[in-house]
Amino acid sequence: MTTLRFGLISLAHTKIYIALEGVVYDPRDVVIMPRVYRCSFCGRVIEPGRGMIFVRNDGTILRFCSSKCRKNMLYLRRNPKKLKWTEKYVKGSPSGH
Ligand SMILES: [Zn+2]
Repeated sequence: MTTLRFGLISLAHTKIYIALEGVVYDPRDVVIMPRVYRCSFCGRVIEPGRGMIFVRNDGTILRFCSSKCRKNMLYLRRNPKKLKWTEKYVKGSPSGH
């Protein structure tokens, strides 16, 4: 049996076991709670099951709550500190708001 830090091991044709830190558990005993992340652009909370994860070539993980935030960051290359609708907005920013 191979030991993995985290992963799925198929021991039989039908049964799948989960390996955590080298110890093999039955999936019914392991409960992985959904985590709440914040949007990389606007800083708002992303509900579990929503949003989109973008992984850059260098391994940086970006989480977006909406396509609006994704486009603003990746294609429009805007600074969230300068936009009033984000939670990262800074009063007295150089944009003059
Ligand atoms: Zn967002």
